[in-house]
Amino acid sequence: MVKITPIPAFQDNYIWLLHKDGHAVVVDPGDAAPVIRFLKQNHLHLDAILITHHHGDHIDGVESLLNVYPAMVYAPAKEHYSFPHIAVSESTEVHLANLNLSFQVLEVPGHTLGHVAYYGSNYLFCGDTLFGAGCGRLFEGSPEQMYHSLQRLAALPAETAVYCTHEYTERNIEFALTLEPNNQNLIIRAQSSREQRSQNKPTLPSTIALELATNPFLRCAVAEIQSSSKTNSSLPVNVFTAIRQMRNQF
Ligand code: ZN
Ligand code: FE
Repeated sequence: MVKITPIPAFQDNYIWLLHKDGHAVVVDPGDAAPVIRFLKQNHLHLDAILITHHHGDHIDGVESLLNVYPAMVYAPAKEHYSFPHIAVSESTEVHLANLNLSFQVLEVPGHTLGHVAYYGSNYLFCGDTLFGAGCGRLFEGSPEQMYHSLQRLAALPAETAVYCTHEYTERNIEFALTLEPNNQNLIIRAQSSREQRSQNKPTLPSTIALELATNPFLRCAVAEIQSSSKTNSSLPVNVFTAIRQMRNQF
């Protein structure tokens, strides 16, 4: 069995570390120090680094990690990276032999234009595209692109475990409750997230099923969200555009 551990970094980032039989893979190491500490403490060798997009809080630890471990780096083909890497794009298969895992690359533009997600064995590493009860900001892509990307993730099997890279769940739920105050699943999730955070535990991973039930950005066809979005249109993509805008001001 592969073990998956969140390594907290900065204010609210998680660097997800997967390991099995002494071999490890990290996703989006924005900082090398806590990763190296964990690898040494647990006597692990770093085999590979998976990158979802080019923001500093996801890549700034790569060079330092490569100085210590000769790891293979996988990063989106549509973005520029100064470290050596294998460029991945839609349908690229990333095979992690020592972990006995294979991930398929999904291009999910929106937060950045080249953003990718890694999906396989019921795990999804989605970077800053999908968050617990929320989604990433549109720094580079259009609302249409992000909406389409989120729809692709929403179509993955319900039991898929969702590993997001930020702990934003509680704040996202506060916002979601302004749109859907009577969503029972959301009310329950608010309670459990509060408990997890009060014990300093991550609210992640989530699941696609939980996101479908509580994440307003995956629920743009729901009548209550349409009316809360105050758009005249009932087109889900227009509702998405409106509530993403509202979240920016929240
Ligand atoms: Zn980002
Ligand atoms: Fe980020």
